[in-house]
Amino acid sequence: MFFRQFFDNSSSTYTYLLASRVGGEALIIDPVKEQLQQYLSAIEDLDLKLVQAIDTHTHADHITALGDLRDATHCITIMGELSKAHCVSEYVREGDTIRLDGIELGAIYTPGHTDESFSFVLNPSSPKAVFTGDVLLIRGSGRTDFQGGDAHRSWDSIVNKLFRLPDDTTLYPAHDYKGWTASSIGEEKRCNPRLANKSEADYVAIMNGLNLPDPKMMDVAIPANLACGQPTKLPKRQG
Ligand code: FE
Repeated sequence: MFFRQFFDNSSSTYTYLLASRVGGEALIIDPVKEQLQQYLSAIEDLDLKLVQAIDTHTHADHITALGDLRDATHCITIMGELSKAHCVSEYVREGDTIRLDGIELGAIYTPGHTDESFSFVLNPSSPKAVFTGDVLLIRGSGRTDFQGGDAHRSWDSIVNKLFRLPDDTTLYPAHDYKGWTASSIGEEKRCNPRLANKSEADYVAIMNGLNLPDPKMMDVAIPANLACGQPTKLPKRQG
């Protein structure tokens, strides 16, 4: 399988490009608008056909490349069914499987960081990897204080859904601020300081006490991402 992890330095975002083989159909998860040319170069160099572009959730810290990739490659754009983005072409539900040319991604509804976040399991019948967006990060978890975030739901998504995957499932998050590129479900069960040997009440107290500043780009990024990163292409409202 072809697998490539890209990094956006300004938002510390990871983007994943997957294909069953060089020359085959590909999908991309959580692409960043500023990195569009990198993705298009890789797609061209490796003779890939991009057929699906997926956002795990409505990002608040960067603008998505979903719309630009759709225009450049005619790929389908995908988000979870509760996304407020009206620009995407398909919405997935819990238990849906995204299929292309030798790759299967199982959709799991994992709210908590936002109320519309999904995670995606590679090869759901025998999980190899999971793309968790921001709900579960390496030794951390996504903030729960805006966009319908909820610490109780974050706990439930992580403990009752993601932690039920096999321990050796590789974890690929949408961000890391220390430069760590991957983890595993078993490693996070044992070593994640917010979760290991913690109760739900402990976790909620930690999350509700973070007091983080808003992301710098939040006021720009959220409305832009509801238009797949292309707010100027929204139809003008009448009247
Ligand atoms: Fe996020």
